[in-house]
Amino acid sequence: MSRYDPDCIFCKIAAGHIPAKLVYKNEHVVAFHDVNPVAPTHVLIIPLEHIPSLSHLSPDDAGIAADILLAARIVAEKTGVLDSGYRLVFNNGPDSLQSVGHIHAHLIGGKTMGWPPFAGREVVHGQD
Ligand code: AMP
Ligand code: ZN
Repeated sequence: MSRYDPDCIFCKIAAGHIPAKLVYKNEHVVAFHDVNPVAPTHVLIIPLEHIPSLSHLSPDDAGIAADILLAARIVAEKTGVLDSGYRLVFNNGPDSLQSVGHIHAHLIGGKTMGWPPFAGREVVHGQD
């Protein structure tokens, strides 16, 4: 692993240093159940390497980006939501409420969702 942040909780999960309920793992990514699920299926898919967010992806990371998306399809099948539908969410930066600075995709499914995704948390810029 070429990028590891010893202060990053997801790096520690990727390295197996702290436990998680794994759904899928290969040589590039790991997928595990979110500790605070918002739906019957809520799995996080992360690269093994530390990349803080989508905004930090470079063209050299094209393979990692593809690995996350391809793993999402496998996770959807493994968790039984491939046909019922699911949403893949990358929170990125403060407005999105990203709380862990290691790029991750939330794969959410198992119930009908709403759109747009602002319920109860909407902040309109320029207003109090
Ligand atoms: P975000 O707010 O997009 O950065 O999402 C971070 C997610 O990580 C949240 O949904 C948390 O519930 C989840 N999370 C934080 N720590 C852990 C952990 N140790 N194991 C599993 N999920 C975690
Ligand atoms: Zn990390």
